[in-house]
Amino acid sequence: MVSCSVIGFCGSETFAATSIAEDQANLSKLEAQKNATAAQRNQIKKTISDLKGQYENNYQKKLILENSIQLAEAEIQTVEDLIAGYEARLQELSEERYEQDTQLDEYYAIYSKILNYYYRYGDTGSFEMLLSADSITDFLTRLDYLKYVMEYNNTITDSIKIAKENIVATSSLYAEAQDKLTAEREGLVVTRAELETQITELDELSSSIKGNLAMSEEQVRQLQSVTDKLNQEIADLNKQITEKYIYTETSYAWPIDSVYWSDPNVVITCKYGWRVNPVTDKNEMHNGLDIKAPKGTPIQAAKSGTVVRSENSGGWGNVIVIAHGDGTSTLYAHCDKLLVSKGATVMQGQVIARVGSTGQSTGYHLHFTIYKGSETVNPVDYLDENFIRILNKRGLSLK
Ligand SMILES: [Zn+2]
Repeated sequence: MVSCSVIGFCGSETFAATSIAEDQANLSKLEAQKNATAAQRNQIKKTISDLKGQYENNYQKKLILENSIQLAEAEIQTVEDLIAGYEARLQELSEERYEQDTQLDEYYAIYSKILNYYYRYGDTGSFEMLLSADSITDFLTRLDYLKYVMEYNNTITDSIKIAKENIVATSSLYAEAQDKLTAEREGLVVTRAELETQITELDELSSSIKGNLAMSEEQVRQLQSVTDKLNQEIADLNKQITEKYIYTETSYAWPIDSVYWSDPNVVITCKYGWRVNPVTDKNEMHNGLDIKAPKGTPIQAAKSGTVVRSENSGGWGNVIVIAHGDGTSTLYAHCDKLLVSKGATVMQGQVIARVGSTGQSTGYHLHFTIYKGSETVNPVDYLDENFIRILNKRGLSLK
């Protein structure tokens, strides 16, 4: 036998070489893989969110650092302006001192002339000079002159000396202030360099975060495509299982297609066994399953066979009975529309009617019975176990 790569019929009624049980096991594996992938993806998404937070944080830190650099630069500018101010003032003071030195030199020159005068006329001192006067007038004039010259000379040189001392003192203060500012400037330059280093480090960190982000986002994309692939495989496998189950006559198919069991409105409202009939209020044997479903939900043949009844029949309402050729038959009651006629051959899974509320019924539902000869049996013992599993998953145990 050639193994089939295509799901479903392949030439004759041959299926891919896996059993439903194997398919179910594969399905569980795929679902576990899908869950693991989802968990991994969520983990990476959390990492991405963390990285984004770090990136934003770095950006805020960088803004603060840039602001600090601007402040440092403004301070450096201020300090440099002050230094330049002191420089200019020191230059002025130096010029003033030069002028005063010149003045002093001039006065010293005058003074030395006077001394020279003393020297020439005063081998014997000032007294001699005065005595050598021609007259009393000349004497007084010389005396006044001497006094005047001496006093004037002293006053001028003293004041120049004081001014010069002041300039020297001020210059040294200014120079000191300037030195302090220069030291401050050096400190600020160091601070600025440190801030720039921090920004460089932050930029490097941010770029590495960006790299990680791109990597993580790529991982998420890859995981997403893995998930998409898994979803496709799961859907394919589900379809394969459903189709196999429909065409495998080893068990009775559920009369409501598995697709509709995902609808929470599709539920078992009454099991097989003794119960109080809601219409007659009498304790009766309920010989089948009541499956509540919205009006018009397709009803399918539980097994291939021949339609032996397709009619409106009192309490059952619109009812279909299919004989399966092995001594068993199935009954579908309270239908809305009947889609097959008596005598027709139907395949397992074929839609034969739609859910209604005809006959003795209190709401839209399918009443389903399996007969073995003329006896009824509990359908749960005959129906496909995969659907029992689906029902159990939904918390709808039938036992
Ligand atoms: Zn019923």
